[in-house]
Amino acid sequence: MRYHIDTIPVWDAMKLNGECPLCALRRKVELMDVDRYLGASVMEPDTRIQVNEKGFCQRHHKMLTEKKNKLGHALMCHTHLKTTMKKAFSAFDTAKDGARKESGAPLMKRMMGKAGGKEDILRAAKQLREMGSTCILCDSIDENMQRYAYTFLHLYQNDSAFRRAFAASRGVCLPDAALLMEMAACEMSGQMLKDLIEDLCNATAASLVKLEGDLEGFTLKFDYRNADKPWGDSRDALERTVTKLRSWCIGEEPNPK
Ligand SMILES: [Zn+2]
Ligand SMILES: [Zn+2]
Repeated sequence: MRYHIDTIPVWDAMKLNGECPLCALRRKVELMDVDRYLGASVMEPDTRIQVNEKGFCQRHHKMLTEKKNKLGHALMCHTHLKTTMKKAFSAFDTAKDGARKESGAPLMKRMMGKAGGKEDILRAAKQLREMGSTCILCDSIDENMQRYAYTFLHLYQNDSAFRRAFAASRGVCLPDAALLMEMAACEMSGQMLKDLIEDLCNATAASLVKLEGDLEGFTLKFDYRNADKPWGDSRDALERTVTKLRSWCIGEEPNPK
């Protein structure tokens, strides 16, 4: 797969020297996308159709709410609601049909679990669950992150300064380690692949070890006997640990204002 290469943002993210440069990129994309969806682009028919179909996840509804454009948010919700109602009504019909089938079946069949109605109910439940798990913003962010992961590996292969910077960095968070590994397995081979995987694993492992110590230091500060003990790097150890394990979601914004 070919992606458009845009190296400057990736280099910028690396220079932040945080727990994960890809998390910094993801956050940048996310903030831009949230603005975009409340702006003019959402009125484009193509985007509108996708919003109607997919809607937004809880996290992104929250972010949209914080933007204080209730009208824009409500307009998108309204058409998404209308699309979802159609699907939900069809799932309700399936569930009701199943329940009817189940209750009308002879006792023996029901006892043997062969009335067939429960399958319909479970199918309806699955449809409802799927309706609640799509998000156009998450999809858009994921697409952008594929492109950034590709660019990241392109830089690693073509820019020795980037290679050195990555080897000396704190690596990446675990979900983004997976992203880079998957992309590297598709796009790279031989010695370069070996170097990348080693740098990725070693830098990330060293960072995990450091975090473990920092986080322990943080917990020890809650003991009054350690009141005078210096904080060292422990002050934001909890936020940095969460970033490393789950990708950035709490603590200071990964990108400077
Ligand atoms: Zn990350
Ligand atoms: Zn989302």
